[in-house]
Amino acid sequence: MKAVIFHDVGDVRVETVKDPVIQEPADAIVRITTAAICGSDLHLYHGTIPGMMPGAIIGHEYVGVVEEVGPQVQSFKRGDRVVGAFHVACGKCRTCRRGHYNQCRFGGVLGYGVAFGNLDGTQAEFARIPYADYTLRRVPDGLSDEQALFTGDILTTAYGAVVNSGLKPGENVAVIGCGPVGIMAVQSAFALGASRVFAVDLVKERTELAAQLGAIPVPSKRWMRKQKSANGPTVKGRTL
Ligand SMILES: [Zn+2]
Ligand SMILES: [Zn+2]
Repeated sequence: MKAVIFHDVGDVRVETVKDPVIQEPADAIVRITTAAICGSDLHLYHGTIPGMMPGAIIGHEYVGVVEEVGPQVQSFKRGDRVVGAFHVACGKCRTCRRGHYNQCRFGGVLGYGVAFGNLDGTQAEFARIPYADYTLRRVPDGLSDEQALFTGDILTTAYGAVVNSGLKPGENVAVIGCGPVGIMAVQSAFALGASRVFAVDLVKERTELAAQLGAIPVPSKRWMRKQKSANGPTVKGRTL
């Protein structure tokens, strides 16, 4: 199969490698139909997260179709269309039973190096997904790959952050940084009952998008116009 292979910092290549196989009874093999490049993949590319070994497959945001399941997998069968979490967890250990899947000592992050379980990633034609019953979810008919893809990491990261903030309905929220996760945090905050959401970012297009979703952009358009006419382009080379 073809896959995106990490060779070194700043050096990833599409290469032909062996197809993955079932290694554990709870594994599934998924034929990947859509994969995303996450901001976290760029940490690997730029070398800010150590532990990626040459030859490893990167990527952890994916939608696909189940190709094969191990004998312990109960919830999925060949042909099921699925989206998966970027993080895999056994679902049975003490921390998993408490809902702290990210602390599962048997788990890890797909395509994120030896410090995160040494699991191959999903920017590939096929991927081995450990603990498939816990890691995968079926994609409802009518949802496109691109829509479902967000639930594997970006939307759920944002939603989890808003839940963990303790937001109560009617409260006001500030989302600082309106990249993909921030934009989904804006939507999650509204979904969880926020009264007003302030979307803070120095990139105008991001706050404009947040404003289309009902947020109050910060800085405001007026402030940005004033800055532009007073100072010209300034902040880190970006035109305000
Ligand atoms: Zn991600
Ligand atoms: Zn566990």
